Amino acid sequence: MLVVMKAQATQEEIQKVCEHIEQLGFRAHPMPGATRTAIGITGNQGMVESGTLEELSGVAEVIAVSKPYKLVSRDVKEDDTVIGFPGTNATIGGRDLAMIAGPCSIESREQAFAVAEQVAAAGAQFFRGGAYKPRTSPYAFQGLGEQALKIMAEIRERFGLRIVTEAIDNEALELVDRYADVIQIGARNMQNYSLLRAAGKKRKPVLLKRGMSATLEEFLMAAEYVMSEGNYQVILCERGVRTFADHTRNTLDLSIVPAVQRLSHLPILVDPSHGTGKRNKVLPLARAAVAVGADGILVEVHHQPDKALSDGAQSIYPEQFAQLMDEASQIAAILRRNVPRGIEIKEKAGAISAVR
Ligand code: PEP
Ligand code: MN
Repeated sequence: MLVVMKAQATQEEIQKVCEHIEQLGFRAHPMPGATRTAIGITGNQGMVESGTLEELSGVAEVIAVSKPYKLVSRDVKEDDTVIGFPGTNATIGGRDLAMIAGPCSIESREQAFAVAEQVAAAGAQFFRGGAYKPRTSPYAFQGLGEQALKIMAEIRERFGLRIVTEAIDNEALELVDRYADVIQIGARNMQNYSLLRAAGKKRKPVLLKRGMSATLEEFLMAAEYVMSEGNYQVILCERGVRTFADHTRNTLDLSIVPAVQRLSHLPILVDPSHGTGKRNKVLPLARAAVAVGADGILVEVHHQPDKALSDGAQSIYPEQFAQLMDEASQIAAILRRNVPRGIEIKEKAGAISAVR
């Protein structure tokens, strides 16, 4: 169910409707929009009796949502969700594209800083590195854990880059939430409902990767799990699905970008690294992702990919990332979008300094 408030409804009226919904034993999710606020109702098994809700002051209408996903839907929120990072000019969603780059794994302080320096110089606003790695083999490098999180926190201090990193389980989630700016949930965990709920209880944005055989509906329902707990800052990410094709690691399904944008207000990024598994295919697919309308790119970059402890074959060189930034800017301009260069940190005193 969805309560659509009148355009001129006051905060107090919105608050009263939310309280009424909670008194009925349901959960209220107010979603402010450009023209009006809608309040999603979850926790109900069937229809909520809409009569009294309709009578409350400021309510325009009460409508049944027929789709299984509610809070992710454009029915609840018409305009695109734009996620901001307080104290910076970085956003995910909206006109500016989010360029997220870094090594698959944080291997050492030297390695992480070498890559961070170069992606920052090329204009990235987000640095992504793995601290906890979901590896196919239990004998493969599993990540440096908290040590890697500390290195990334230093990188944020030094370069201003906002930090994205994966939480593979509930234990890692607590630490990732403490150190990072964005919590990544990986493809293998897209349907780990207890982890999704736990991430939904956090207040940092959640970057949710598509499961390797997930349908569009399953993908959106996974996002719904996070949002149903009250965390509305969800970023979707297409990273390729499994098919019969064996010339690439996965098959990057770019058609999901417009499909998601039609149904949902959430931003959707594309990861051409895991999507192809091959360095020579990363730039072409990244260009295509920008052209198809993705809200940003998540890409693996390593200064010495031959020595990488994970995903070296799909990691691009820093120079290739710089080239990608230029090409993405040009393609984005055709779509009247923008690739911001560098992150601006608004210091506590209010001064603005560009970190490049
Ligand atoms: C990763 O981002 O390094 C990763 C493991 O990705 P995915 O969950 O998409 O396989
Ligand atoms: Mn990887």
